[in-house]
Amino acid sequence: MFDSDICKKKDGSPLKTYESEYEAQEAIEYVKRQHGNEHVSYKCSRCGYWHLSPKERQTPNHKSYCLDSNGRTKQAYPTYEAAKRRAEIIFDEKGIELFVYHCDQCNEYHLTHNQY
Ligand SMILES: [Zn+2]
Ligand SMILES: [Zn+2]
Repeated sequence: MFDSDICKKKDGSPLKTYESEYEAQEAIEYVKRQHGNEHVSYKCSRCGYWHLSPKERQTPNHKSYCLDSNGRTKQAYPTYEAAKRRAEIIFDEKGIELFVYHCDQCNEYHLTHNQY
């Protein structure tokens, strides 16, 4: 593993670079054991070596298993900020005021019309 001098992160620090997919795969296993977060490796078209990138959820917000009063699945947001931002967008677009609350069942955040 070495620091790339071609490829940089958004903050300007060098990306960790692996010479082979095998080496990148080992790093993924290591990070998973140490920190418990999942990464994927990809072959970089700029430098020709391998980097890791965090394995994100498919979309920042996703369907939880929680149902609303109509029996439909609710949108869940992983952080208060994400839910709040979404509520602001909905307010701007539709003029509907929504409140963020933390859900004990899925341990994420939902939006509701009712203020608790
Ligand atoms: Zn690269
Ligand atoms: Zn929930």
